[in-house]
Amino acid sequence: MSEKPKKFSRRKFIGLGIQGYTGVQLAQGLPLSLLASPSCTKSNAKTVHGACYHDCPDSCSWKVTVENGEIRDFGGDKDNPFTAGKLCDKMETFPQDITFHPDRILTPLKRTGIKGEGGFEKISWEQALKEVAQKLKSSVDTHGGESVLPFGYMGTQGLIQKAAMSQRFFTKLGATNLAETICGAPAIAGNKVANGQVMGILPEDILHSRFIILWGTNTKHSNVHLWPFVLEARNRGAKIIVIDPFRSATAMEADQHIQLMPGTDVALALGMMHVIIKEGLTDDAYIEKYTLGYDALKVHVQEYDPFTVAAICGIEEQIVIDFAREYATAKPSLIRYLIGMEHNSNGGDAFRSVGMLPSLTGAWRDHGGGLMHFTYELFGKAVNYERLDMYTELAENETRWMNMVQLGTLLNDPDLNPQIKTLFVFNANPVVTIPNQNLIREGLKREDLLTVVVEHFVTDTAKYADYIFPATTQLEHWDVADSWGQVYLNLNQPAIEPMGEAKPNSEFFRLLAKEYGFNDACFDESDIEIAKSFFDTDHPYMEGITFDYLKKNGWARLKIPEPYIPHAAGNFGTSSGKCEFYSASLEDSGQALPVYKTVSAENVGKYPFHLLTVKATKGFHNSSHGNVKHLMETEGLPTLDMSSEDAQSRNISDGDEVIAQNQNGSVVLRARIKDRVRPGVVLMPHGYWPSLVKGNATSNALTNDGLSDLGGGAALQDCRVEVTKSSG
Ligand code: SF4
Repeated sequence: MSEKPKKFSRRKFIGLGIQGYTGVQLAQGLPLSLLASPSCTKSNAKTVHGACYHDCPDSCSWKVTVENGEIRDFGGDKDNPFTAGKLCDKMETFPQDITFHPDRILTPLKRTGIKGEGGFEKISWEQALKEVAQKLKSSVDTHGGESVLPFGYMGTQGLIQKAAMSQRFFTKLGATNLAETICGAPAIAGNKVANGQVMGILPEDILHSRFIILWGTNTKHSNVHLWPFVLEARNRGAKIIVIDPFRSATAMEADQHIQLMPGTDVALALGMMHVIIKEGLTDDAYIEKYTLGYDALKVHVQEYDPFTVAAICGIEEQIVIDFAREYATAKPSLIRYLIGMEHNSNGGDAFRSVGMLPSLTGAWRDHGGGLMHFTYELFGKAVNYERLDMYTELAENETRWMNMVQLGTLLNDPDLNPQIKTLFVFNANPVVTIPNQNLIREGLKREDLLTVVVEHFVTDTAKYADYIFPATTQLEHWDVADSWGQVYLNLNQPAIEPMGEAKPNSEFFRLLAKEYGFNDACFDESDIEIAKSFFDTDHPYMEGITFDYLKKNGWARLKIPEPYIPHAAGNFGTSSGKCEFYSASLEDSGQALPVYKTVSAENVGKYPFHLLTVKATKGFHNSSHGNVKHLMETEGLPTLDMSSEDAQSRNISDGDEVIAQNQNGSVVLRARIKDRVRPGVVLMPHGYWPSLVKGNATSNALTNDGLSDLGGGAALQDCRVEVTKSSG
């Protein structure tokens, strides 16, 4: 880890504006002590509490020391017991990496050149808002509100800056709704079919577990504050098993790694059920009292015998048998699952079937047993989330929904009625993060499309914008941070004034609403008023947690009664209140029971490798930080993992430049031959910005925009490629 910065100043960077965007790299790499103003006194030093905004299960609390309007210190809040004063490596130098990045946009910009080339000129806020409002009004008058597509996602997951004001604006406008499905949708849908909710045990309770399955999660790198708890559980006697087609950093530290073929998790889970039932390892009393559909499941899993499952998963038959036995007999046994297994056409049923296992064995009875999944439902009960839903009052009519995964297809579809004529992008960089990069670019080039982007940087998406508005960073605005991976609530306070002319997302939509002529009182609500309203609740989990308390202390743990053993006596969120092995509501779609479906073998001959894309976790957070020089160096060049067997067959050596290609595009990569994938599988990281790597294309240039079986998620791992050695 790099040494923590001590002091730095924001003043040197104010006014860089578009000058910064032209590529000056002043702040990055400079010791922060050189960036501090020597004239500071300690007369008005204060500590400001905040929290990380990234789409990450950890939601770290931080503290900022501010003196004379300058940040003197930044780091994790040591008092928070879960995040324990440690930010991950990619966020340790967040202020100078992002807030003071010399390329940051600090004024509104208007396109001057061809879409995608990145030519812009400065424009005042007043003029930019006026022009956007006029163009939008003219387009909506002609094509209707549904011709507007808001594309906002988890660039920040704060309750205010993610969508509190934008939702109001787009609902009032009658815009198309965006189905936010790129991450978590199949996981949520699958788990809900079986269990009716996604919440499992509390993260700290993993300490009580003695058999821990990390299924589809690279915990060591992408859930870094849970990892010490996992290690401590091992110190106390737990066995750690990782299930992942990739030999990840987490898999390398596990006691056992089951390296199955991509997209076959559902088959493994059904095979485990086969063994557990056949060998009488079920908890019959639990099944009888707290589940539905056991008889149908029992018949169904007969076809998933260990021999068949082993062939599907590409593992040994004995592994299926031993693993199932061990899981069913260990106590407490816990499955921690995350997104890794969802991005394929079996993803929903994978979560659904794995989510049934603890009810089959009665693992829910034990403290530390069962499932660990998302925690956001606890906040949903506790915090006044109705404040986020109030925008529905503004709706005149129900409007259509479109799936974010298929942005490229949607932008290029001439038969859509109405076609998308205006695209707002905020908290998102779809050219990098959404499947079928080249199709998205084609759509963004359309001259009849008005594209408005709210951003920190001229990203690969923003290059196609007609207007870019400068957004504040987490150090410059208010927000409330809940979590989907732990149970601490944070209030993020602005540590410094906004840089240049940057404004919070909420303020952009407030101003645009006014300019557009919307006069509803909700558009006058300030961020502080919105923040306070989240605490307007008498739920017992929120006892003593008020706006004023969090302003002083930054964070608070929800007051959840403990021990928290949520399903020891059933209490599932399904309409039956039971874990549903058989789902009557899915009978019509033929999905009453989870099944393994073979992915289409189309193109297998032409494109022999199954492509996996995984997060580049050392320096980037999805596409965030992809333009931060030292973090780019940390990540290194984008690599393609291959087995030595496959590499040899193509005369490829470790470090060679290779090209991965298919019908969607091609990507230049550096071969990594470390046998971290099985023969027939190749793997590349995502998060790199295309314009900053050779070939101007990254992983999503190869992925398809097909959908998963449940939840409308992206089946982007159902992707095949050919790999060749580059000729230069
Ligand atoms: S990205 Fe995650 S681990 Fe890193 S600082 Fe943010 S919340 Fe913490």
